[in-house]
Amino acid sequence: MKIAVLSGKGGTGKTFVSVNLAAASKSSLYVDCDVEEPNGYLFFKPENVDKRPIEVKIPYFNEELCSGCRKCVDFCKFNALAYIGNRVKVFDRLCHSCGGCSLLCERKAIFEKDKIIGFIELGASENVQVATGILNTGESTGVPIIKKLLEIIKERDKNTFIDCPPGSACTVMESIKESDYCILVAEPTLFGRHNLKMVYELVKLFNKPHGAILNKYMDGDNPSEEFCLENHIKILGKVPFDKNLARINSKGIIAVREYEVYRNLFKKILADLEEEVRYETAINSKW
Ligand code: SF4
Ligand code: SF4
Repeated sequence: MKIAVLSGKGGTGKTFVSVNLAAASKSSLYVDCDVEEPNGYLFFKPENVDKRPIEVKIPYFNEELCSGCRKCVDFCKFNALAYIGNRVKVFDRLCHSCGGCSLLCERKAIFEKDKIIGFIELGASENVQVATGILNTGESTGVPIIKKLLEIIKERDKNTFIDCPPGSACTVMESIKESDYCILVAEPTLFGRHNLKMVYELVKLFNKPHGAILNKYMDGDNPSEEFCLENHIKILGKVPFDKNLARINSKGIIAVREYEVYRNLFKKILADLEEEVRYETAINSKW
């Protein structure tokens, strides 16, 4: 099964949930698609890491062929091109490598060259294969790196946990595309409820089966829990508010590998998750 783990903002516990679910599985693949700030590797400390560059195509111009018509500048919706001092200038950090400008130029004055925008790292940590996407600072989009990570998922037949970027932008949409099920991680505050609503609307839009994990759970009012009950979102688990857990996380320790109470909690979530995915797969195959 392929499980995407989402949250409306960073710091909600998305990486904590993905890392511990992957570690609680017998054999699994953890994929860090939070390419602007990957941090799952700090917990797994993978060994035998294979680092591969990710390249995209960036246009460059032959000034002798260019007529100065500026059609390419008008075409680029990302404002990555400007006509300055009788020549076209490329702002390559804004370019999304769509290839449109070079297709459009009637004078064939635009060529493409490769540019490295980041890396993927593949390693192993006990029972978990770890794939991490890393976007170089200042680059405009991590989508090409996420696409490469998703190719790895297709190659491997394992329980896979996709640690998505926070929010609901295009990198998140790309990250959940291949998933069988989405876990929405939420905090027990009004802001947490707002963030939960954001990712809930996204998974509904993509028609993805989903459930929630309530993190930092305490007795008393819990606006995120209320949102789940109002919208019939299955609550897969409740991770209690625990200062010791904060200490464990800050030291980069994987809770399920060290503490039985968390091993039991995540094994139970995993069992419920497998049941959910089986059920959803059976329903979908009927249609
Ligand atoms: S479309 Fe081609 S010819 Fe026109 S400005 Fe751009 S590069 Fe030059
Ligand atoms: S490849 Fe696409 S995004 Fe990049 S400069 Fe050309 S039109 Fe703009």
